[in-house]
Amino acid sequence: MLHVDKNGIDEERYRRQIIIDGWGIKTQEKIENSKVFILGAGGLGCPVALNLTSAGVGNIRICDSDTVELSNLNRQFLHAEQNVGVDKTTSAVQFLSRYNSGVNFTTITKKVTEDNVDELVADADIILDCVDNFPARYALNQCALRKNIPLVHGAVWGMEGRVTLINPPETPCLSCLFPVAPAKEEIPVLGVVACATGSLQAMETINYLCGYPPNLKGKMLIMDYSTMRSQTLEVARNPSCPVCADM
Ligand SMILES: [Zn+2]
Repeated sequence: MLHVDKNGIDEERYRRQIIIDGWGIKTQEKIENSKVFILGAGGLGCPVALNLTSAGVGNIRICDSDTVELSNLNRQFLHAEQNVGVDKTTSAVQFLSRYNSGVNFTTITKKVTEDNVDELVADADIILDCVDNFPARYALNQCALRKNIPLVHGAVWGMEGRVTLINPPETPCLSCLFPVAPAKEEIPVLGVVACATGSLQAMETINYLCGYPPNLKGKMLIMDYSTMRSQTLEVARNPSCPVCADM
């Protein structure tokens, strides 16, 4: 049973975060009024979407054109065995809407291209890059630049995860960091590595939505989960980047 107060906030549900020092109803309202666009309902997209749903982000658009495969299930925990063959967006939102019926979900079962990306991202406050394919990433990067929407990039490889917040001209764009798309290959990854890295992306997103200074703006957090060592490196713009050099 939802208990919604006069501000439209379910105070009982979110009580344990509302009592965080400096948070309060006002911060919860910011979260509730936020719109996020998540590209990918896979290894990173699952923990991102679950963490933002549990925090009470009011409007979540999830975009993925794939269906669930058995080999996804070592890490993509919003999908169950009976969802193999089902659209990932449908499967993810089935889980998420049971978890928090107060969130407004939109599913987009399409491939992101340069032609449709602006329409799909719409008026999101922040974009989450949770895919492993570079054509989609580059399209998302250009959309983020055109619309001046911050983009939280995440990536995993084996036991390593990386997260950065992209928002030129203060930061490099994705094309500054990856001028050439790496060859497409099967990415080795452990479920907990994807889960922890997606959770870091969600945390950075929540910081941004709450109005706290983003920690990873222009910085790349590199986490080696096999040694539990992390580094945060400054990342620089490429002055001759064909995408953002004119900004
Ligand atoms: Zn650039």
